[in-house]
Amino acid sequence: MRIACTSTIFTLLMMPLLILCRRHWALCLLVGLFGCKHSTQHRVLVLQPFADFSLAEARQLAQQIAPFHDQIQVNKPLPFRASAWVPARARYRADTLLRQLNSLHGRDTLVVGLTHTDISTTKGQVADWGVMGLGYRPGKACVVSSFRLQARNRREQFLKVLLHEIGHTYGLPHCPVPSCLMRDAEGKNPLDAEKDFCARCKEELRGLGFGAAS
Ligand SMILES: [Zn+2]
Ligand SMILES: [Zn+2]
Repeated sequence: MRIACTSTIFTLLMMPLLILCRRHWALCLLVGLFGCKHSTQHRVLVLQPFADFSLAEARQLAQQIAPFHDQIQVNKPLPFRASAWVPARARYRADTLLRQLNSLHGRDTLVVGLTHTDISTTKGQVADWGVMGLGYRPGKACVVSSFRLQARNRREQFLKVLLHEIGHTYGLPHCPVPSCLMRDAEGKNPLDAEKDFCARCKEELRGLGFGAAS
């Protein structure tokens, strides 16, 4: 698995640990308070499309997620926070979008931002690195972009990235099982090999209150 961990000022303050994890050409940013369980109890899953992602698409996605989570709410599309736009790269800063999503809902919700536009964050020395998803670990928000997914099975890959990010928001780390949704890509594209959460990850998710993971 390709994981790069980056300590931030938060770690210095014994606060959320910043972990960068790459999936294919992308990476997800995980911010966590290790040992903190208050945010991992069962929550309403809020699908929050951004302006380029239609309500109909979000509703379709809700049907795909239904087997994994039993309380899903679909919101109307939300304008992107203007400050998230990176004009030189024609993409949005995923970390800024996360802060936008994080401010929208309460502690009993998990908000998943949805977009078709490219998103990015900072990875090591790379100031603006394109990613497929970004989420807190654990936390109450993540964002997923379809921009970097394969065209032939984009919907399927989108769902897998989304479940991977949700797993992180529930506190799950990466998993060494090749067919597990929590697998890290290690620079490749393993999404088609990922079939489901493995038994161990399912058990962890159940313990953390994740929807109907079984
Ligand atoms: Zn990850
Ligand atoms: Zn697993």
